Amino acid sequence: MDHFETVRRKKDGALLEISLTISPVRNADGTIIGVSKIARDITDRKRADAEIKRVNQDLEQFAFSASHDLQEPLRNIKIYSELLTRRYGDKFEGETLEFLGYLRAGATRMEILLRDLLAHTQVTSMQEIPEKADANEALARALEGLASAISEAGAQVTADLLPSVRVHHAHLQQLFQNLIGNAIKYCSNEPPQVRVTAKGQPGSWMFAVADNGIGIAPEYQEDVFGLFKRLHTSDQYSGTGIGLAICKRIVDRYHGRIWIESGPGQGSTFRFTLPG
Ligand code: ADP
Repeated sequence: MDHFETVRRKKDGALLEISLTISPVRNADGTIIGVSKIARDITDRKRADAEIKRVNQDLEQFAFSASHDLQEPLRNIKIYSELLTRRYGDKFEGETLEFLGYLRAGATRMEILLRDLLAHTQVTSMQEIPEKADANEALARALEGLASAISEAGAQVTADLLPSVRVHHAHLQQLFQNLIGNAIKYCSNEPPQVRVTAKGQPGSWMFAVADNGIGIAPEYQEDVFGLFKRLHTSDQYSGTGIGLAICKRIVDRYHGRIWIESGPGQGSTFRFTLPG
């Protein structure tokens, strides 16, 4: 059986998008005696697909511009509230100081949110087909970015020799950075231990980032990949709820899969596949 999509011209000259399924017709002893051809008009479906794609692109452009343009006024709020504290801090007292503190904390939080949102919208912006990225190198860069979190938590990160994969280097680095950053942040009473491994599969590699942290109950293991989905409040663990959504978006972009194996108090293993 063969299945493909093509374009045909109708009698009135208009173009028609059709899906064609062609299968052999066999007699009782299995000899092919003909061909069956089924054609379906898919013009409406194609038009709807194109519309969804356009709306998504518009939304993405909007999110990108909004998160980009909001950074500038926000920076001003931050700079001037810091300046106020520095210059007049000794004259302020009680509630005034407290309120100024909220203003600065709010601005810092929003800055992190906008930075993460921008990173989320930028996942699809690198269009060209990537060269191979060396996962050992991407991991090393990610660990450099996490150096202070690693030393503050007394974390130990170990890794196997990793392969090269056909993705953008920046995407692979971001995957490691977000997953290892979480593995350190959501730790239990023990010092965090993180292990990064990779296993070859036909046409792809399956990576794993395993930790000995607080774990995630099975019923939340899909939810946490949604944008802004968090299982904790900011006073328990800081965060924006965007990190795993970025990971999913990156892996989706390369037609891979990302999932969690975990249970409460059992540590978590995040697995993802990427083209080899
Ligand atoms: P953030 O860490 O900014 O909240 P993420 O999107 O990275 O956002 O993670 C979403 C939620 O998934 C986190 O708030 C946390 O509840 C949970 N989570 C992520 N990684 C881990 C982990 N390694 N161990 C336990 N829980 C995790």
